[in-house]
Amino acid sequence: MMYEIYNCPTCGRTLDQIAINNLINDLKINEFRALHNSMLNYLLASGPTIHWVLLLNEFTCDCGWESTASHITRFIYDPDDTIEKEYVKLIHIYGAWHDVNGLYKGENIKNILESFFLRWNYLSDIILCCAPFISSENTYGEWEWLTQNLMPFKYYIITRPQSKEFLKRLLIFKLKSDIEISKDPAFLETLFDVDKFSQRIMSPIWAEDHIITIDYFHAKFYAGIFQDHAEIIHSSYNPYYWENRQLENAAFTILPKNEFAYRFVFPFSVDEIKVPPDSVLEQTTDVGCGLIFEYKNEIQSRLWKYQNRLWEILLRYYSEFLNKSSK
Ligand SMILES: [Zn+2]
Repeated sequence: MMYEIYNCPTCGRTLDQIAINNLINDLKINEFRALHNSMLNYLLASGPTIHWVLLLNEFTCDCGWESTASHITRFIYDPDDTIEKEYVKLIHIYGAWHDVNGLYKGENIKNILESFFLRWNYLSDIILCCAPFISSENTYGEWEWLTQNLMPFKYYIITRPQSKEFLKRLLIFKLKSDIEISKDPAFLETLFDVDKFSQRIMSPIWAEDHIITIDYFHAKFYAGIFQDHAEIIHSSYNPYYWENRQLENAAFTILPKNEFAYRFVFPFSVDEIKVPPDSVLEQTTDVGCGLIFEYKNEIQSRLWKYQNRLWEILLRYYSEFLNKSSK
């Protein structure tokens, strides 16, 4: 279930669905598709290969506040199969704020985190998840949930050593059998396979180096780290099956990146957390980024060279247009 995380700064309404509905109404999405196809024709004839395209649409909140939403989708090299609604992901709304503060059921905190993970997967440099307890000796689901929602090699997870052992053990077990883990005696045997299998299987698939184990901590937070700031969800929630039904607290905050490091990373004495030199979106420097954008009710497209981060592309886009508007 999608949890809406973008709020109108004027009236407080959630905007996610308003922004998405505005983009995917038939008239507008068909204009975006037409521009996608002319971009496709150009690229097939002469251009480089692009993998992603940003879609920016103007929309108005029910209260009259106006903004531009940013969505990302794969660039499909097939004129009959462009910009499918279900593959368009909302990743930013200019000027919106995030209203997460209070008590929520654990399963709702999972939904909130899924929406932030989607945003952070594309826009941040690193996602840092800190939770002492992840899954248990009888469940695998919370590890599976976490790793499915995080972009590989973009995350670091800080957890207690036994949680990492659960991941290894359960992962191996999962390869062996589909039946319910806790009821199968073979489950115990996996205990003995951990070291043998982990070196072969874990490292390439699960970015095992990115799971940092520390004893004796009880802190929990989830953070997307951008080039100059960090977005943080503080929450008492552990990805742990029985916490899904309990009330937990959660709150959103933003800190400058250095201050985040000082307050949230240094206390662990962890020095392994580095910004990856490139990410899935940044592998090549000479390939352009596709933009299809609405500006003053007119939809246009362009191929944009980008140097590194998607977040910077958006900031540059917005600053360019804000400068135009103020002139
Ligand atoms: Zn509003």
